[in-house]
Amino acid sequence: MNDEPKTKNKSIHELEQKVFDFFTLSQLGKALISIQDMENLSRVFASSVYETSGTKNVALLIYDIDRKEFTCHYTIGLNPEVVKNVSFCEEEGLFWQVLNGGQPFSIRDSNGNYRFGSVIKKFKLDLLQSQVWVPLMVKHQLRGILTLGEKKDESDFTDQELNFISQLAAQAAIAIDSTILNQQKQKATVSLGKKMENLSVLYDVSKALNFTNDLKKTLLLILDKARNAVRAQKGSIMLLNKETLELEVKVVRGIDPITERKINDGEMECTKIKLGEGIAGKVAKTGQHMIVQDVKKNKDFKKSDASNVDNIVCLPLTAEDECIGVMNITNKATGEQFSAEEVDLLVTLAGQAAVTINNANLYHLAITDGLTQLFINRYFRQKLQDEITRSKRYQRPFSLIMTDIDHFKKFNDTYGHQQGDAVLVTTAKLFKSISREPDIPCRYGGEEFAIILPETGIEGAQTMAERLRKEVEAYEYPSLKGGSLKVTISLGVATFPEHAADAESMIKKADVALYACKEAGRNCSRVYSPDLEKKG
Ligand code: GH3
Ligand code: MG
Ligand code: MG
Repeated sequence: MNDEPKTKNKSIHELEQKVFDFFTLSQLGKALISIQDMENLSRVFASSVYETSGTKNVALLIYDIDRKEFTCHYTIGLNPEVVKNVSFCEEEGLFWQVLNGGQPFSIRDSNGNYRFGSVIKKFKLDLLQSQVWVPLMVKHQLRGILTLGEKKDESDFTDQELNFISQLAAQAAIAIDSTILNQQKQKATVSLGKKMENLSVLYDVSKALNFTNDLKKTLLLILDKARNAVRAQKGSIMLLNKETLELEVKVVRGIDPITERKINDGEMECTKIKLGEGIAGKVAKTGQHMIVQDVKKNKDFKKSDASNVDNIVCLPLTAEDECIGVMNITNKATGEQFSAEEVDLLVTLAGQAAVTINNANLYHLAITDGLTQLFINRYFRQKLQDEITRSKRYQRPFSLIMTDIDHFKKFNDTYGHQQGDAVLVTTAKLFKSISREPDIPCRYGGEEFAIILPETGIEGAQTMAERLRKEVEAYEYPSLKGGSLKVTISLGVATFPEHAADAESMIKKADVALYACKEAGRNCSRVYSPDLEKKG
């Protein structure tokens, strides 16, 4: 009978303990679920165990997927410096089997000696000063281990206490698992995002390149995409001149706008680099890209070149096993260095660009007249036909100017053929510089030129013809013997649809007008009209 109150007390005490345990568990469960970073999660879990179990110390080891080992994440009551390097990996044997059993177990026998002596020794697990190990299992997989030192009052852990701790551990394991998954997801999302971004850069470039045959535009497009993709301040593309074996800058970006325009329009030349010389020359020779993160310390960089360059990636442009040039990408806008991933992207981009540049280059060579760098007659005819088709479809006008140098035979006879060639080159440059972006200046043949003027009616074409004439008339052509020489031209204009309905008759009508100029004494321009024909 006397025992009764005691029993009652005991069961009340047990009940209180259960309520406390339940409360702790549910509080911890809630707290853990809401925490998504491992640092905080480890702290909350380890502290709750430490506070509720009466242990002298706790250590939380978590499985590191990349390192494939369990590493110490958080400790209480242990010197963090001493245990921070404690880790151990999957092993065969009894210890591993016991751990994977998922139940808390004592790591020491009743005499206080370690039960799995060789493992303890091998991984220096005695540094954890542990008594009990609690596996953290999720879906039968060991995600971590909680170790507890002996109790402060030096009594043994009761089954009830161990049971409670293992329930805490089960809660924590789920939270840890979801945090690990979350971290992996975030990592994957970032790297996927980066990959998608890179792919989209490559896709954009290939799509855009399919629509342009203009070499300069192609080069600028590639350079801009590459620069933007890695957020670089500057860049340039150099193409290899196969005759001189020198790299020539074709396009630049990110320097002062006036110089940039001059270089990109071919009005200004940059220093040429010999194959094998400097960074660009080496890259072109070896076909291997080079990264220089600190240019000022690199001996391959001439002092003058390095003035505004911090870091550079130089990439070979290789097409059909031949290096056709290099692309330089310079200075991260953020002041950082180029990452391995960025360099990879640039290498891929350069590979893709090289094939396109090669094609554009071959096409450019095929349609360009070697002497004057204007389009050849065949290209002119094709463009004229295209323009007829386009103008018909959109019911828009366009014009054609045919022009011929006056008394050029005599000029050649007087000053020599070489001087005549120089005049042709200069005249072509004048035509190019006066033409607008959509105009198509061509060498029709010999000393005859044709200029297609899209979207231009009679009046606009007449004004343009007069401008060309006046510029040539006023220009001081440099003589090869020093001094200057004068040249004049005659120009005939025909406009679609007023004067002709097809390509052949456009040429004929412009020719009629040109012939009329010659008849009228040269150095003048005429727009076609039927009465000119009658005179002819
Ligand atoms: P016109 O004012 O009537 O046009 O007289 P022209 O002497 O210019 O006329 P023509 O068409 O009879 O002669 C064209 C001359 O242009 C013949 C040739 O000596 C010269 N010519 C044609 N192609 C070239 C070239 O590529 N280089 C040089 N130097 N001369 C050329
Ligand atoms: Mg002629
Ligand atoms: Mg002539």
